Amino acid sequence: MAQTRTLGKVYKLLGLGLIFGCAQLEVASSDGGSASDLQQGTPSYEWSEEQIRNAVNTARAGRSLQPSEWPNGAKVAVSLSFDVDNETIPLRNGSVSVSALSQGEYGARVALGRVLDVLAADNIPASFFIPSVSMMLNPSMVDAIKSHGIHEFGIHGWIHETNTQLPEDVERRLVVKAIDYMEEMTGSRPVGYRAPSWNFSQNTLKIIKDLGFLYDSSLMADDRPYELLAEGEPSGLVELPVEWILDDAPLLNPRGNSYSSPREVLQVYKDEFDVAYEEGTMFLLTMHPHVIGHRSRILILKGLIDHIKEKTEDVWFATHQEIAEYVIKMSE
Ligand SMILES: [Zn+2]
Repeated sequence: MAQTRTLGKVYKLLGLGLIFGCAQLEVASSDGGSASDLQQGTPSYEWSEEQIRNAVNTARAGRSLQPSEWPNGAKVAVSLSFDVDNETIPLRNGSVSVSALSQGEYGARVALGRVLDVLAADNIPASFFIPSVSMMLNPSMVDAIKSHGIHEFGIHGWIHETNTQLPEDVERRLVVKAIDYMEEMTGSRPVGYRAPSWNFSQNTLKIIKDLGFLYDSSLMADDRPYELLAEGEPSGLVELPVEWILDDAPLLNPRGNSYSSPREVLQVYKDEFDVAYEEGTMFLLTMHPHVIGHRSRILILKGLIDHIKEKTEDVWFATHQEIAEYVIKMSE
């Protein structure tokens, strides 16, 4: 971890702006808002039980929202999401590396269309979390996604900012700005939030609760939907959990420390789905067009959908919004 963080800082210093999707940058930028900040510099091994409980209580898993049954008797819910980061990965750090920006541009120019075609072949809905600046640079993406009529748009920051490095008022202002921009671009107000790099600050839950979001999809305390607790109290927000295992970026970075071949990654996703199916829960996968949409990688998405379709009678394909609305309704 320390080595990766150091490498991240070196890359930033060199201005290489390497595009890793979210994973490496998350590690490189996760220092802010730590528990030690909350305890005013006291080392954690000296904390009292109360201090320890305070440290973990910002956003914690509450009651499970796993429903007793999924719609139409389906055994498992499947929800695919795409974080359309594109050029915002270098831009969020102020990098204007032409090389890195071009790698992001591929996401809008080539990869998104390839992803949409694969989804359209089986009429599978998905959720697209898009930083505002991605939409600004490539506004045609919005119409391309909207034209299918089944996909959802969700918030993914203004410029893929790192929440834990921001004061609360700045973080809030950027979320509000992102909501307004998305509403103007797509014609509807988003109900879902995904923190850029899943980088959730001590203030994020308070902010998204105040702004009336239905759900978050940035945290990792379960395989099933659950209600988020804010300072120990039910927040009313649904969490649709994510995991680095279920993210294409870390394992598919050819310059990273943990590179896996596309077919190996496909096997991880199949194994995750198979257990979700056996347990009757939820399979939620995060991908990035600029990562998964390459010629040698789109086979992962196609292969996964073919694998899931073998159980087609028992599968509910849904957007994150549809799942959040359903589990709330079933829990009432
Ligand atoms: Zn992202």
